This record gives sequence, structure tokens and C-alpha cells, in this order.
Amino acid sequence: RTVLRELTELQMKNPDISPLESLPDTDPNVFYKRYLKKIRDLGEGNFGKVMLYVYDPANDGTGECVAVKSLKHEGGGHHHEGWMKEIEILKSLYHTNIVKYKGCCSELGQVVQLIMEYLPLGSLRDYLPKHRLGVAHCLLFAQQICQGMDYLHYKRYIHRDLAARNVLVENKCLVKIGDFGLTKYIPEGDVYYRVREDGDSPVFWYAIECLKESKFSFSSDIWSFGVTLYEILTHCDPRQSPPAFLQMMENVQGQMTMMLLIKLLEKHNRLPCPRDCPHEVHLLMRQCWDFDPARRPSFKSLIESIEEIRK
Ligand code: ADP
Ligand code: MG
Repeated sequence: RTVLRELTELQMKNPDISPLESLPDTDPNVFYKRYLKKIRDLGEGNFGKVMLYVYDPANDGTGECVAVKSLKHEGGGHHHEGWMKEIEILKSLYHTNIVKYKGCCSELGQVVQLIMEYLPLGSLRDYLPKHRLGVAHCLLFAQQICQGMDYLHYKRYIHRDLAARNVLVENKCLVKIGDFGLTKYIPEGDVYYRVREDGDSPVFWYAIECLKESKFSFSSDIWSFGVTLYEILTHCDPRQSPPAFLQMMENVQGQMTMMLLIKLLEKHNRLPCPRDCPHEVHLLMRQCWDFDPARRPSFKSLIESIEEIRK
């Protein structure tokens, strides 16, 4: 008896070692609300809100930090399906450069919280303005993003929301892709996904064909990577952010319309070369922003190109 109790306690503290997987009440992926202690908010996007909690089932202060994501508008019917998809997708991904799934917390039979590993340094958007990275360091992060994305594409998922705000920083040498809220599976044989619902889309990160025809593909993620690379090399300076810059180009006051953005891109206007950004790196961005999706590089080839530049 006591041995069993001790084992259970031990396992609750270390969900990674689970000798009792067969017992349903000690499933390491099941988190109980009563042991979750809120510490602070970590951030939020259009649909989700992420908070830092300590999970402390032993209730003795030995718990671990976890990042907990929940939907901002709870109970929103059509969001719920997407929410369950997001959880299923994250659960199926294992890669050094992708945030790790830990489990779920349910209430009244509905999964209300997604539990992930906590990345202490926040998103690139939080991190970069505070730590002015040199070009070599920027390229290290960029290459890691490509590695995570190459794995995602190999699993036939398209991310659809690749941006600095969705890349998380573990430590000064490691970043991971987070936020799979818009990720879609592309069945073998298909080449793109066409969206029907179009709420708060991150249009300034979107490829031209996404804006014009709502066509999302592996190549449209490449375009967004180009914008993310631009963000990294501008240290996520808000004055040079993609929305700020593109609006300045068309001299727009307030919200820019999709029509104007399309017109701008069709005239082959693109984000400029960031200050102190090597020519070869800007060239990579330009390739990612090719009008023709078929001419854009793949993440595999980007990994190699970045490797060459880093040498
Ligand atoms: P949304 O789907 O609403 O955009 P995200 O998953 O992108 O939600 O999370 C919103 C913000 O919360 C991120 O931009 C980041 O700042 C923070 N965040 C998300 N996940 C983590 C994590 N695992 N560790 C630390 N901070 C996180
Ligand atoms: Mg996000």
C-alpha cells in the first residue's frame, strides 16, 4: 500500500517517468485543476491565453512550472473543434524545436486547458528587443525555426501562423515553435488548404496567394518564414514591424485594407533589407517572397543555405 502511494506521488511529481501508465487515475497527461496554482499571465493572441502555473500535486512546494493555454472566449461552439485539433496536433509532434505537450486539464468532461512545457524567456517578440543579437546568433535561431518547420512539413502539416510572436525561447541557444492554433493537415496528394472562415488573420505575414485566393500551402509557410526572418533581423523593433512598414509604404492611416496590401505586393514591393543584415540573408527573404509559390525554397534547402552563410 505505502509503496504504491509513494510511487504514485513520485510519478505525479515527475510525469516523464510513468511506471504506472496502466492505471487511469495516474495518467501523466491528466492534470487536475486543484493542483494547478496560477503564477502570472504569459501572453495572449487572437484566440488563446497562456498563463504560468505551478503544478504541485504533493502540495509541498516541489511542483513544476507549466504553461497553460485556454481559449479566450470559452464555450464558443465553432472554436471548440479547432481547439481540440490544436491539442491533437501538438500531442503528435516530437521535435527539439517544437514546444512539448504535457497534458490536458478537463472540467465537466470538456478539455479546458492545454498544458505545455514552460519556456522561461517568452516569445521572440518579447526576447529580441531586450537582447540585441548579432547576425550569427539571429541565423542560429532562424535555422532552428527551419528545422522545426521542416519536421512539421514532413508530418504534412502547414502552420499558417509562423511569426516571431509564435516562436518561443528556451535559452540563449534554443528556440521552439509554439501555437498550432491555425495548423492544418494536408492529405497526401493535396497541395493546399483553402480557408473558409477568415477572422483575424495575420495578413502581413501572408503570402500573396493566401490574400488573393485563401490558398495555404507548404510554400505559404515559407513566405511567413521570410517575414519571421525579417522580424528577427530587425530585433522585432515595433517601428519596423511588417504592419508598420507596409502601411508606411502605401501611406495608409489606420487599418490597411487587404486590397491595398495585395496591390502593393503585386507591384513587387516587399519589406526592405534590415539594417546590418547581410546581403545573402536579404536574398533568402526575397526568395521566400517570390510571387510564384513553386519558386520559393523548401525548409530543407533553407537549412542548407543558412548553414552556408553561418560558416
Ligand atoms: P494564441 O493562439 O492566442 O496566439 P499562443 O500559443 O501564441 O496563443 O500564446 C500567446 C503568447 O503566450 C505567446 O506569444 C507567448 O508570449 C506566450 N507563451 C505561449 N506559450 C508559452 C510557453 N510554453 N512558455 C512561455 N510563454 C508562452
Ligand atoms: Mg500566437
